[in-house]
Amino acid sequence: MSDITMTGLTKRFDDVTAVDNIDLETHDGEFLALVGPSGCGKSTTLRMIAGLESITSGELKIGGQVVNDLEPKARNVAMVFQNYALYPHMTGSQNMKFGMKSVSDYTDEEIDQRVQDAADILDIPDLLDRKPAELSGGERQRVAIGRAIVREPDVFLLDEPLSNLDAKLRVQMRAELLQIHREIDATTLYVTHDQTEAMTLGDRVAVLNDGHIEQVDPPQALYDYPSTRFVAEFIGSPAMNTLPVSLQWEGHAVDAVHDSFELSLPRAETFDARPDSGIFGARPEDISLVRNVEEATQTFEAEVTVTEPLGESLLLHCSVGDDELRVKAEARSTIEVGDVVELTVDEDRFHVFDSAGEAIYH
Ligand code: ATP
Repeated sequence: MSDITMTGLTKRFDDVTAVDNIDLETHDGEFLALVGPSGCGKSTTLRMIAGLESITSGELKIGGQVVNDLEPKARNVAMVFQNYALYPHMTGSQNMKFGMKSVSDYTDEEIDQRVQDAADILDIPDLLDRKPAELSGGERQRVAIGRAIVREPDVFLLDEPLSNLDAKLRVQMRAELLQIHREIDATTLYVTHDQTEAMTLGDRVAVLNDGHIEQVDPPQALYDYPSTRFVAEFIGSPAMNTLPVSLQWEGHAVDAVHDSFELSLPRAETFDARPDSGIFGARPEDISLVRNVEEATQTFEAEVTVTEPLGESLLLHCSVGDDELRVKAEARSTIEVGDVVELTVDEDRFHVFDSAGEAIYH
């Protein structure tokens, strides 16, 4: 049993509320990613779980036991930091052993065996005799993860562990982290500001904003049904388009009326809140160019202002009235800046948020 339960978890530093009344429960053995912009409270949350930061109020349980006042050593959690925090004068294996010696009374032989096992999992047996200065960034990161693994923790906490690595190595390490997670089977909390990393790694992703949780869901649900405008704009790249519209509700439908277009949204009956204005949202890949205007419905004109070849697609920035829409067009299409294009939005992929940013239609 190594599930983590946070109830009303709060951390204040003088007048800054870094973590504001968080309720969050992990499942045993789950990989949960915590994602959000800089300063939203991700690291502070992790540090409270590790016992490196005191809890101002609320309750923290690990494996059903309240651990608010338990020493870090007694929690059986292991944390991997962004800067690796390896001792420069120790070799890889000494760094890995050091983590164990501080928490256990294993024999030297048992410790050696665990270091060897962890080195095998991480594919670093050849690096154990080298000091951190003799390792690349990726290799140092493996040693730092190895130091956490040897303790066989119930809970594995990772704070931006890949952010010092180059883009290619990050992608490789992402796959390796998932492999390691499968092998060690510990509940893992993974902090990152990178939504792609969170989405590719997490069984579920918790989006934090300004100390509170906006939404916790599996990656695809988060992408398809963001419950707030913040999540809609934070998850996905290029970001979801959001434009102010007035809303005209009529029975089963609602019309979203913008200066430059009007779209009828067909499934309004399931939504109770009926404000007369809101924010219309559509992802760039859910807006498409219309080739044959006669055969299409709900189309509108836009002028292309910038084209960005992304390789697998061509991203168009288009002006619609005073606003801008990003649209994914086919790669190698011949559209140029200044072209006027006819657009339509996938009817099943509309989103509407109220003025407070809560989703009221999708
Ligand atoms: P980043 O991605 O930049 O690391 P984060 O989401 O991890 O950010 P935290 O480091 O948890 O954010 O910080 C949350 C808030 O708490 C920030 O406003 C930060 O300035 C503040 N904070 C964090 N640690 C302290 C501290 N020791 N004393 C005072 N304020 C702090």
